[in-house]
Order: sequence, then C-alpha cells, then structure tokens
Amino acid sequence: MEIGRSALELITDLVGELPFSRASSFHLGSDVYEQVSARPDEDGRGLDEALALFRTAAGEGLETAGPRYFGYVPSGGTFTSAVAELLTRALNRCTGLAGFSPALVAMEDGVIRWLCGEFGLPAGAGGLITTGGSTAHLAALVAARYERLGECFTAGTLYTTAQTHYSVAKAARIAGFPASAVRTVPTGHDLRMDPQALSAMIARDRAAGARPFLVVANAGTTSTGTVDPLPEIAALAHGEGLWFHVDGAYGGFFQLTARGRQILRGIECADSLVVDPHKSLFAPYGTGMLLVRDPTVLRAAHQGTGEYLQDLHPTTFPHYADYGCELTRECRGLKLWLPLWLHGVSAFRRALDEKLDLACSAYRGLASGGYFDCPLPPDLSTVVFTLAGASEKANRQLLEEVNATGRVYLSSTMVQGRHVLRLCVLSHRTHAEHVSEALAVLHEFARRSVGRIRLADTA
Ligand SMILES: *Cc1c(COP(=O)(O)O)cnc(C)c1O
Repeated sequence: MEIGRSALELITDLVGELPFSRASSFHLGSDVYEQVSARPDEDGRGLDEALALFRTAAGEGLETAGPRYFGYVPSGGTFTSAVAELLTRALNRCTGLAGFSPALVAMEDGVIRWLCGEFGLPAGAGGLITTGGSTAHLAALVAARYERLGECFTAGTLYTTAQTHYSVAKAARIAGFPASAVRTVPTGHDLRMDPQALSAMIARDRAAGARPFLVVANAGTTSTGTVDPLPEIAALAHGEGLWFHVDGAYGGFFQLTARGRQILRGIECADSLVVDPHKSLFAPYGTGMLLVRDPTVLRAAHQGTGEYLQDLHPTTFPHYADYGCELTRECRGLKLWLPLWLHGVSAFRRALDEKLDLACSAYRGLASGGYFDCPLPPDLSTVVFTLAGASEKANRQLLEEVNATGRVYLSSTMVQGRHVLRLCVLSHRTHAEHVSEALAVLHEFARRSVGRIRLADTA
C-alpha cells in the first residue's frame, strides 16, 4: 500500500502544478527516451526510481490538462474522474455482461439514460460508453449498415461534408466500405452542409444504382466548431429513409446549456449520436459515448454469445458487449457517475456556459484589436483567425513564436483553402485570466510580426 500513498502524493503534486506549468515542452533527449523505454529488470527497480522516471517522461509534451492549452480540442480531465478511475481499476470488475455486476451496470445505465433525456431522445433510447469518438462512430456505422443495408452492403453510400472528422471515413473503411462510398456533400461559405446539394446527390446516386443509407451531420466540427443545419438535414434524411447520425464528439455536451440547445436544435432527431465526455464533459482521455434512438438495432448488429457464458446471473440491464466490439471492459461509467453525483449537473452546465462566454470574449478581443481577421463568428467555443493582411508564412511563424513561449498553446487549420489559427476553449481549468493571457501573447507577437512586415516593405 506504500505505492498508493506515494502515487497519491505525486498525483496531488502534478495536478497542483498544472496552473503554473508550461503549456508545452519538448526538451528531453535520446538518453531519457532510452532510459524510460529500456527492458524491465528481472528484479524490479523499486518505487522511487519508477515514479521518478514517470515524472520525467510526463514532464514532456503538450500540457493538454492545463488551463492555457487551446490547441486541437482541449481535455481537462477532472480530478474527481481520475479518482473514480482509481476506484474502478482497483476494484477491477467486469461490466461487459451485466450479470457480472448488475448494480454497477445500473449506475452506468442511469448516466446514459439521463443523457439521452438531455438530448431529447425518446424513452427507450440507450447507448454505450466507449473509449472515444472513433470507436463510437464505428459502432454507429456498423448498426446503420446492418439495419439499412443487410449483409450485402457494397452498394451502400453515406453522406457527409469535407469538414467532418476523419474518424467517420475511417469507421466506414473498417466497416467494410470502399472510399468511394463516402460521399462529400458541398458546404456553403459558412462551412455548413448544404441540404439542397445533399438531396441532389442522393437522387443522382440512387439513379446510378447506389443505395444511400446514412447521413452524418456535425454538431460542432473539430476545425471550426461549426454546427450543420441539423433540422433540415434530419428532415431530409428521414424523408429519404436514411439513418441520421450526428457527430457531437467535440460540441455535443453544449446541449447542457440553454444557448447550446438553441444552436444544436434538431439533434433530438438523431438515430445515433456520438459525444465525447473526454472533450466537452471534462472527463479524462478514453471516454467516448454513443447514444442511439433504438438500442435493439445496436444489439442486432453486435450481439454474440458462447457456451462458456451459460452460467451468467440473469439481469434486465444491458450487456454492453452486445452494443459494440468489446467484450471485457472495466466499470466504465463510474468516471462519469461520480463527478455528476458529486458536483451535480448544474456545475457542468455552468462550466460549459463559461466556455461559450470565454470563446465570445476571445472572438471580440481578436476581432477588435486591429491585428487579426476572424472569418467566422464562433458557433461554440472555437475561434479561428489570421494575422490581418499577412501571408501564410507570417501566420505560421506567429503560431510557432506564440507556442514557443510556453505561456499558451494553440493550433491551426484550413478554412476555404486558407491557413488560419484556432483557439479552442474547453478545459474546465481555463478561465477568463487564461484567455486574457492568450490574447496578450497573440497581440504581443502580432505587433512584432507587423513591425517585421512593414520593415520588409520599406527595405
Ligand atoms: C475528436 C473528434 C472525433 C474523434 O474522437 P476520438 O475521441 O478522438 O476518437 C470525432 N469527431 C469530432 C468532431 C471530434 O472532435
């Protein structure tokens, strides 16, 4: 039990340091890589050395859990969730089949059903806690394929935009579809799916002998946080007899706020919906979710059994093994159940509301400072911008310089073929002072960059 005390001390240290640590750091050399990746000794090394090596290795990388990390999609990982994980792992119960631990499965089932209600899905809706959005998409695509196309599905086509996360195309490939089955629906200047273009594509594909079966819409794209016109797409998909799947891996949990519900209107029409608690519910990595209108479809697509399972304790709770590709799994729901029960749902609603406010203030601060252009007002908590009147090279350099300070970390993407910087606010540890710091660093380096450009112009 000595290890428990030492590890908890280290954990408290690490989490305590988060507000002050650099936003990114890549400083370790090959000697350290060699040391930490060496073959384990026959006799072990002892706790102090092992934990020290861990601490060294953890000192390098992007500080994704820190408050000044605005790159990609931040994921804070609440400490409560980490404690739940420790309980889960120490207990080590299986929840793939409900008979192993019916009451623990009931806890997880309660969280899933509560969330289905928040999204306006009907009673009877259900779902699965996965390891992430990618695995959740895969289960959804396999279910849609199985239900809408049957076992001979090679003529099936699915529809989404170029803004959609690549995990959807990847799931389609793993589910057995050729790349040509993933049809790219055009978007307008606002990067939203064009429903008329979708309708025309479906008609054309049908006429050519294809079997359109699925539309994937975005409830917040990774690149820009853009939300597709969900009500129009839902009506069209259902009018055409297509499965309507929504990717809310980044933006889905904004549904817990009044503003989010307004923006995500139409999400209640989804046949299936992916949300990532490890993004917008502040859970630690390895926490995704699939919600489905009708879990019997998931079951039909994934169910199996074996003679060795004939002794299971009977229960009415779901066998999660029947909902996706995993059998043995940990008590995955506790890391959501404990934070929700401990802090209450309103703590999450408030935190998400704060992120929307912070993104608005970042947008205003960037758009009004005179140095930056913001091509899109944020739908959710992601702001994209460029250094006004500057080349792509100057924008790339600005990003490098800002990130090199270690004070904040941002990333970039492309909008309509143009390189843009992006700032995504999503950590529960990020507050107004951290956004102010990001704006201060950006403006500081923008001033220098503009100075350089003027100098070059006059030279
Ligand atoms: C992150 C993300 C995914 C992929 O989810 P993982 O949890 O990384 O597997 C899918 N869609 C969107 C919109 C995302 O932001």
